[in-house]
Amino acid sequence: MRQFRILSAFSAVLLMILLTGCSGPSRNQKVTDTGFFFDTVVSVTLYGAENEPLLGDCFSLMRDYENMFSRTRENSDIWNINHSCGKPVEVSEETAALLQMAKYYYELSEGAFDITVAPVVSLWDFAGESPHTVPSREELKKALSHVDCRKLEIHGTTVTLNDPEASIDPGGIAKGFIADRIKDFLEDQGIKSGLISLGGNVLTIGTKPDSTPWNIAIRKPFGEASESVATVRTAGESVVTSGTYERYFEVDGTLYHHILNPENGCPADNGLTSVTIISDSSAAGDALSTACFVLGPEKGMALVESLENTEALFITEDLSMYQSSGFEAQ
Ligand code: ADP
Ligand code: MG
Repeated sequence: MRQFRILSAFSAVLLMILLTGCSGPSRNQKVTDTGFFFDTVVSVTLYGAENEPLLGDCFSLMRDYENMFSRTRENSDIWNINHSCGKPVEVSEETAALLQMAKYYYELSEGAFDITVAPVVSLWDFAGESPHTVPSREELKKALSHVDCRKLEIHGTTVTLNDPEASIDPGGIAKGFIADRIKDFLEDQGIKSGLISLGGNVLTIGTKPDSTPWNIAIRKPFGEASESVATVRTAGESVVTSGTYERYFEVDGTLYHHILNPENGCPADNGLTSVTIISDSSAAGDALSTACFVLGPEKGMALVESLENTEALFITEDLSMYQSSGFEAQ
């Protein structure tokens, strides 16, 4: 059962608060490790000293996935596809599965979620050094002519990107996909209680050891780290937030953020500042949070309502909150 408690009437980013307060027997001792992957802070929390070695296994899995999915690492699967000049590329089963999911959410969102948006992402260069510049209309038009997920063909583990100048950026779905794989690994090892956090993606395993749900705070956008707007109570579910405040720059008083509308190549500009998705799969939550952000409040919420076991909290620039029908507020 999920339950959402609105704590105050302001807006968001995602941060987790572990209200575990665990002491006592060593089987409930909290063991946690933190690292830096995929350009973000990641952590895994488990219970029981005997489970501590699994943390290292989780981090080596993350390293493996980073080596497959990185856009910048030479000879990663994604790098190979982006440098294939339209020729077929053999990839791992995991990469093929990630790309299949990305295509599924492209169709479901009618193009709002499109991992072939990479040439446009490169133009904006959000990760680059200041001073940042806004791409010209001509540059955007040229880059947009290579954005089309239908040119990405996947047959088994053979991937063809049918446009030599096209490229893919799995940044809008990869962290969720990896969180799901880490959860699968931990459950296979018999873990019944745990928490995986990859930047804005939080995925829970079971409940806390005392059988109470996890409390995951949704932070106020552009607020202090400790400021939250809502607490989501989950047992085994994923909570993913995409927000403008995560990656942006300002030029002449205008904020340019990293969630781009594949129709015009510009930051999605429909009044939203953050979208949180609660779902079973973190890959789904990741793709949907990005997709709904692009679709905007009406179409985005309609998409959420059409899906099973999927709830959402949208926050607008004026800090109003909109929630899906299964989202219980107190
Ligand atoms: P993060 O959690 O890293 O902030 P998000 O899930 O919010 O990522 O997705 C934003 C990232 O996805 C961008 O940094 C970019 O790499 C990529 N992206 C931007 N716009 C789109 C889009 N319309 N469809 C798919 N991916 C996108
Ligand atoms: Mg996303």
